[in-house]
Amino acid sequence: MHCPACNHKIGFFKSLLIVNPFRIRCPSCGASLSMGRFGTLFLAIGFILGVMVGGFAMYMKEYKSWKMTDIVLWFLVAFPTVIGAYEWLGWRYAKLREEHEREGCKGKQKI
Ligand SMILES: [Zn+2]
Repeated sequence: MHCPACNHKIGFFKSLLIVNPFRIRCPSCGASLSMGRFGTLFLAIGFILGVMVGGFAMYMKEYKSWKMTDIVLWFLVAFPTVIGAYEWLGWRYAKLREEHEREGCKGKQKI
């Protein structure tokens, strides 16, 4: 993941802190960046993956008589693995683009 404005490399662990993929600030030059359509897709697939991981635990509880400890263990293992691998793919392949904000609509201005 690189900043398109200054080519600053955004590390994987920094990318994990990105809450909103449509509003990322470059830590180096402060440019306003976005993942664009990729971000939408990424969030949608991530949501589905989360539901699947949760759904699997529900299924196992209902039909395979998983105990609460099994479910907790599943979440401890599956979430970091699945979401971690997924985040890494996103970080590896996401292309950031610069958002051109209109002047004066930000509220605060740099002097
Ligand atoms: Zn930058």
